[in-house]
Amino acid sequence: MKKQFFLFTFLTFLSMSLMQAQEVTEASSDSQKDSGGAFVAAKKIKDSLYYLSYRGNNVVAFLGRDYTVLIDGHDENAAPQTLTTAGRLSLNSVRFLVNTHHHNDRTGGNAYFNDSGVTILANEQTYNNVWADTNKELLQDLKAQRATLAEAMKSSGKSGRGEELSSKYNRLSEQNIEKALDYPVMTFTDKFKMSLDNETITFTQVLKAHSGADVFAFFENNNVLATGDLFINGKYPFIDEEFKGSIDGYLAGINQLIGLCNNDTVVVPGHGPIASKSDLEAYKRMIEYTQKGVQMDFLLGKSLEEVLANKSITANFDAKGYGNGNVKTKDYLSMLYRAAEKRYPRRN
Ligand SMILES: [Zn+2]
Repeated sequence: MKKQFFLFTFLTFLSMSLMQAQEVTEASSDSQKDSGGAFVAAKKIKDSLYYLSYRGNNVVAFLGRDYTVLIDGHDENAAPQTLTTAGRLSLNSVRFLVNTHHHNDRTGGNAYFNDSGVTILANEQTYNNVWADTNKELLQDLKAQRATLAEAMKSSGKSGRGEELSSKYNRLSEQNIEKALDYPVMTFTDKFKMSLDNETITFTQVLKAHSGADVFAFFENNNVLATGDLFINGKYPFIDEEFKGSIDGYLAGINQLIGLCNNDTVVVPGHGPIASKSDLEAYKRMIEYTQKGVQMDFLLGKSLEEVLANKSITANFDAKGYGNGNVKTKDYLSMLYRAAEKRYPRRN
């Protein structure tokens, strides 16, 4: 009787597992829709590694023996579906989520994940950037108030009124702004390692590249590299200049990624299809070629309009669809032109 019960339980468990496996297969081939209308598709990279795509944006799920780790979590709309999809991939739940950088398509779901019991980890600067981005309007307002006060101080000079304005100016710092986010984040700087059964994941910080601080993840035993937005496969890269991103830092990041790869490494870009070392090398050549083209034109004294009209710089890549992504050819060339202006200041 006991034995029969055990057998029944075992069979129930087995059929449940099979059902689960079937759902995973469905998830592997189809997009899944939740009530909010978010499509999150799970695709297999290795036995314990999947990438979950939403609007061409990739996040990575590592299925450990005891729990699942997510690299990025999509935005607030896709977070519930991302968590459900990741949960279906194994019998374990998602315990950790690591943000690669502060952009909303990476961190927008953080509050949801936190409420669902997932611990969030991020680079220290990424955390600060999320905070600054969340409080953007308040910070802008504060800046404007300080500018007005500074003007008034100037015209009042060292008078009593000037002194009063000056103390008000000094008090008006970030005091009105909620410092912490409404969910906790554990932060790290430079490098961070996670040792799990049969896998070590190393997170490495790259400064002033796609944003001010980006992190990529390397799964040593699986030989899989999750690049975050340090690599946008098949499209021009976005450089967040407002948050201290730079094309030179971006190239340095690409070199660092290439240095970690061998010919078998599976490279998961932040956006676009799965890639390899040779794709990263081709991407590097694309950036170097276009950057040099813009720099040469700039040094010849050409204006931005003239550079934009010079189709030879991007023709080869535009033909392959590089300009059809979020960053259009014109935006990419304009960014390269601003970088050239910074690198070679013109003497008047
Ligand atoms: Zn980004």
